[in-house]
Amino acid sequence: MSVVRQGSLGATRVCPHCKATVLQSANICPGCQHHLRFSAANAEPQSEGVPAMRIEGSIHHPGRGEQCEYCVVVSITNEKGEKIARQVVGVGALQPGEHHNYSFSVDVIPARGSVGGERKLR
Ligand SMILES: [Zn+2]
Repeated sequence: MSVVRQGSLGATRVCPHCKATVLQSANICPGCQHHLRFSAANAEPQSEGVPAMRIEGSIHHPGRGEQCEYCVVVSITNEKGEKIARQVVGVGALQPGEHHNYSFSVDVIPARGSVGGERKLR
């Protein structure tokens, strides 16, 4: 079990709305877009995320007549090739003539200077 320092960089929590693992510093869930903090009066302005990477693409059903299935996998590795995360984010069926668009994005959020004040897990 690792020791989590108070306000440590990259600390996470679970979004109460969609159960995604999000950054503890996030005010809005990047998945479901719900607000995660309600203390509007003394809310700190959140650091702006800087878009670091974005990939978009589309696929269409390749054949005629028969259906096919699809599986979307996102993986993260470090510079040594060690796996940090690998997750299936979506599966389903693609019908003949159907067309899907996919987008993948990475935002880099500069850490605030004085992290470590509040630490709410809910
Ligand atoms: Zn959410």
